[in-house]
Amino acid sequence: MQLLKDNWLVIWFFGIFFLELIFYHKNYVKRIEAKEHWKTNLLNFIATKLISIIFLISIVNLASKYSTHFLANLSPLISIVLSIFILDFAGYIFHRASHEIEFLWRFHEIHHLDEILDVSTSLRVHFLEAFFHTLVSCLVIYIFGIGQEAIAIHSLIAFVFATYHHSRFKLPINLEKILALFVTTPSFHEPHHDEDIKNNQSNYAFIFPIWDRIFFTYNKRTFQSSWKFGLSYSKDVNALNSLIKPLSKDGGK
Ligand SMILES: [Zn+2]
Repeated sequence: MQLLKDNWLVIWFFGIFFLELIFYHKNYVKRIEAKEHWKTNLLNFIATKLISIIFLISIVNLASKYSTHFLANLSPLISIVLSIFILDFAGYIFHRASHEIEFLWRFHEIHHLDEILDVSTSLRVHFLEAFFHTLVSCLVIYIFGIGQEAIAIHSLIAFVFATYHHSRFKLPINLEKILALFVTTPSFHEPHHDEDIKNNQSNYAFIFPIWDRIFFTYNKRTFQSSWKFGLSYSKDVNALNSLIKPLSKDGGK
């Protein structure tokens, strides 16, 4: 089951990646920065995958096993739907905290330093950000008693939307505006990667954009402006430095 799921996610990722290459990156793949950004994103993905395999997956399973089992004991459909909403909401809170709390920003900054937004940006999550995010998820899983099946389905849907909303694979704008009322899309997520810190403190949602509308973090210029990706105060770092910077005195600056 796990292997089957992983294979489909790999096919999905490379499907978007090659669509981007064919339709959107004709000129930019030749740029040296593009190759550097792929290297940085891949290295962060490998580091995060390693810590997941060694440690994070086990603590998530333990949190679920010894949890209250409250949601896991409801009917399967209700349990899974509620679990997905709760885990996505916890993700919204953690993501917002990662922008508003200086200690967390030093890890999340690495994701935002990417000056080229594409599907590979979704892989650029510093391994210590993944660690802290997983600790928060474990707490939520324990308190609400979320089952392993619901966790697996949520992680699959979260991956599909993270890859999609970072990608350059855009639908006709009127169609995307309707879609973005329900789920996150590339144009919805773009303001969040603007180099101006005022804009990147908006549109935090992973799967459901409703959280941004409820908690007043929806960017009113979504769909209306063009955006420049990265961070105005710093140039992007190379692959190795992206792992080290959060641990140095320059982290978060
Ligand atoms: Zn962010």
